[in-house]
Amino acid sequence: MLKTLITGGSGFLGSHLCDRLIRDGHDVLCVDNFFTGSKANIAHLIGNPYFEVLRHDVTFPLYVEVDQIYNLACPASPIHYQHDPVQTTKTSVHGAINMLGLAKRTKARIFQASTSEVYGDPEVHPQTEEYWGRVNPIGIRSCYDEGKRCAETLFFDYHRQHDLDIKVVRIFNTYGPRMHPNDGRVVSNFIVQALKGEDITIFGDGQQTRSFCYVDDLIEGFVRMMGTEQGFTGPVNLGNPGEFTMLELAEKVLQLVGGKSKLTFHLLPQDDPKQRQPDIAMAKSKLGWEPGVNLEDGLKETIGYFRRLLG
Ligand code: NAD
Ligand code: UDP
Ligand code: UDP
Repeated sequence: MLKTLITGGSGFLGSHLCDRLIRDGHDVLCVDNFFTGSKANIAHLIGNPYFEVLRHDVTFPLYVEVDQIYNLACPASPIHYQHDPVQTTKTSVHGAINMLGLAKRTKARIFQASTSEVYGDPEVHPQTEEYWGRVNPIGIRSCYDEGKRCAETLFFDYHRQHDLDIKVVRIFNTYGPRMHPNDGRVVSNFIVQALKGEDITIFGDGQQTRSFCYVDDLIEGFVRMMGTEQGFTGPVNLGNPGEFTMLELAEKVLQLVGGKSKLTFHLLPQDDPKQRQPDIAMAKSKLGWEPGVNLEDGLKETIGYFRRLLG
């Protein structure tokens, strides 16, 4: 039985990964400081003899014996990662050093949840893994973007210098049940606003694009990446290439929820990327992976979740 550590395991993606690995027969250790994660996301796993939770901040060393590590700890939404930007950089950088140190000592395979934000506001479209990105190093998104870029650097230096078995994925916008209702991300915002009959808040003119991947597809990509042969490190883009403007997303949500919300327009946040779409050729060829859930079906599942949550 594989002993698998998941940092950030009580968050949105982490909790789905806990579910999946428990189903696959792993002995799971979920490590989280509960900054943005919640006990409710993993409550149903408590009591399972192969599931364990540890309240711990990854910026501090951690000594446990494991076979595999998935490093997901890091707040992911702009309002949360900008709340304490120094802690965000520490989480990505010190957290990576500690988890890499742990992987080095235990000889564990280690996976890094990187992000499409490493491409910044991209001039290459769609984004391929070869593209180096266009990131502002001193802006309000930099704590997240540069923290994640530095974490990638650390992963590749531990790989070159200490022969660590690393797996790096770059995740594009992902949505689904267990997103935090107040974390300000666009899919959760629009759905919650529509369900409450409040105005839909479009930032800028709504012509900026994103590509939205449903959580179950993404988790399948994680597991496939972790199962690739030693020596294949990535980085690999994981995301759904379907590209939508924020106006299109708002209209789709309104059509599925119904109700009488109006669209309202607000200032575009600083350094907000204008477009983002993954090139997933590498994921297709190396992992045999591509997303199967289209936006409409994924939104229906997510709307159902928020309907239950909001009562
Ligand atoms: P999330 O905020 O729900 O989960 C992050 C988890 O990490 C939370 O449970 C939080 O409490 C925990 N955490 C934060 N700082 C910590 C620390 N110092 N020590 C221990 N735990 C800590 O976000 P998510 O959407 O589930 O994202 C998970 C990972 O995937 C993150 O690394 C994020 O950068 C990455 N990612 C997510 C997306 C997406 O669209 N959801 C896109 C790109 C990358
Ligand atoms: N570390 C950890 N758990 C371990 C092994 C190491 O948290 O099981 C931390 C340790 O605190 C160190 C970091 O990982 O600061 C990097 O470890 P490494 O062995 O690469 O560096 P060194 O200890 O030589 O500084
Ligand atoms: N956005 C929006 N209204 C909102 C929240 C976000 O129009 O209520 C926009 C935001 O400006 C960005 C896009 O939606 O262009 C995606 O934002 P999110 O924070 O979800 O992800 P990221 O910018 O990190 O891709």
